[in-house]
Amino acid sequence: MTSAPITQPIAGLHHVTAISGPAQENFDFYVQRLGTRLIKKTVNFDAPEMYHLYYGAADARPGSVLTFFNRETTARGQAGIGAAQAFAYAVPQEALEEWHTRLGGTRFTRFDEEGLALQDPHGQAFEMIATPAQTVWGAFHSATLWVADPEPTARILTEVFGYQPHGEERGPDGTRFRFHLPGSAPGRIVDIWRSDMAAKHRPGPGTIHHIAFRARDLAHQQGLRDTLLARGEQVTEVKDRQYFKAIYFREPGGVLFEIATDGPGFAVDEAMEHLGTALKLPPQHEHRRTELEASLPALLTDTHHTPKASLR
Ligand code: ZN
Repeated sequence: MTSAPITQPIAGLHHVTAISGPAQENFDFYVQRLGTRLIKKTVNFDAPEMYHLYYGAADARPGSVLTFFNRETTARGQAGIGAAQAFAYAVPQEALEEWHTRLGGTRFTRFDEEGLALQDPHGQAFEMIATPAQTVWGAFHSATLWVADPEPTARILTEVFGYQPHGEERGPDGTRFRFHLPGSAPGRIVDIWRSDMAAKHRPGPGTIHHIAFRARDLAHQQGLRDTLLARGEQVTEVKDRQYFKAIYFREPGGVLFEIATDGPGFAVDEAMEHLGTALKLPPQHEHRRTELEASLPALLTDTHHTPKASLR
């Protein structure tokens, strides 16, 4: 296989986007119970009748951003082959037991790290993994990709994105192949999971829609796009997502990948200290503000009960 040389490694995860059930329950869990910050209240740009809520670390740094397309439904999707299965927060070792007591879940050890496997109220799998270098609450440790054949996915990670293989581990329910980026950026680990189960991914609440990797700037993103196109991947044009520029492609294992720029960032349309307090609409939907504000479900985002202090 021919491939253009890696221009510059990916800088880690930028964000993870999942599908949730009702927005209020989603907000209550991620803000009131977990203590992450609502950093943007907007709509799905491609379907503005639904919220798109963004959570993250207090400073909204790339690598901490978890976003949801919020569906007002009790239906559920199903995690399975061809999508990301879980995301993991980095937490201090001493916080794991407290989270376990507070939220339940299942303790595990993986690649010599201790973790806690959890589900959010709509069935989304997520983890907390003890990380010595953890400094800020809300930053990612890793994401797990569920694919049938790890090899082609691994080649994208190593040959295009600059990840390095970190070994494989047989677990109770499948084999996990770990990849690292150099450095210490949040979310610099990706696991490819070949599960013993053969579940088919069905999109819906409780499943991850896509994961986004970080490009430093537009030139970095363009270099990655050129490399992917040269390999025959079907990559979208650059899309303006207001807070970042994005390109998308489905990697060979079926997982929807995005590459997002760090800039312009979440303070582009509201001050840093007010992130998440007002409904923000992109210019193409601003003319529908009155209609959308009336039709979107009520969402109480002032902390109507005091958020529990997050563990640091
Ligand atoms: Zn995205």
